[in-house]
Amino acid sequence: MENKVSLHRLRNILLEMHQDVLGMKENVKDEQFSEYVNTLLFQLKGAREMSTQLLRSIQKDNTMDRDARLKSVITLEVGHGPHPAGFEPGAVDARTKTEEWKVNHVCALACKQYLDTVGYEDVLVTDENNYLSKVGWNNHKSDVFISVHHNAFSSDKAQGAEALVHDTLANDNDLKLAKLCSAAFARELKIPDRGVKTRGLSVLAGAINNRWKDTQAVCLVEPYFITGKTVDDHASWSNRAGVAMGMAINEFLRGP
Ligand SMILES: [Zn+2]
Repeated sequence: MENKVSLHRLRNILLEMHQDVLGMKENVKDEQFSEYVNTLLFQLKGAREMSTQLLRSIQKDNTMDRDARLKSVITLEVGHGPHPAGFEPGAVDARTKTEEWKVNHVCALACKQYLDTVGYEDVLVTDENNYLSKVGWNNHKSDVFISVHHNAFSSDKAQGAEALVHDTLANDNDLKLAKLCSAAFARELKIPDRGVKTRGLSVLAGAINNRWKDTQAVCLVEPYFITGKTVDDHASWSNRAGVAMGMAINEFLRGP
């Protein structure tokens, strides 16, 4: 982006110089000086053409990157909830009786909506078969797989954003995605960033199972503590968490 701005500026400067020298040419009577002005005009024209060519190639690259990025497969697995063998609410906020799976669902849908708006074509929210022996197995060759959960604690003082990666199977991409998610939750919800934790969770192992390509990223998120006393409105918090997650995924796929 910076290069593009610099190139635009350079091209404008060259254009102005070209106009100036053209103006000079009309007033030049001295033959030797006239030859010098013609050489200068020739060089300026070449430099301008080169800057235009460079701009075109940058624009082409950006478009290609963007097209490929928007075709990424993103799977958001809603943690807990109804499943063929029954129902599992996850953590429950004792004050408001809010069940974790509901908040997970709102968060995943808000994330999908954000990514759809940005232009991603393949964002799947999965809330089926999420019983414990199957978690993570909804990962159908995704570029990004996130298991969406929320934190809870016995004290309402605990608050902060976390993301988890597998303790032995995680790679640098998992870690990068997890860091971006945790930081985005903290930023958008204005809560502390508790960072990335490593744990041997079966959901992560299931999703990583025979990782189909190195660039695939897998993590589990816990945007905030549903039991925290500052959480006044669960719908608002989980919606904002979902948008934050969408921003993090987009940033991850966009690369450095
Ligand atoms: Zn959970």
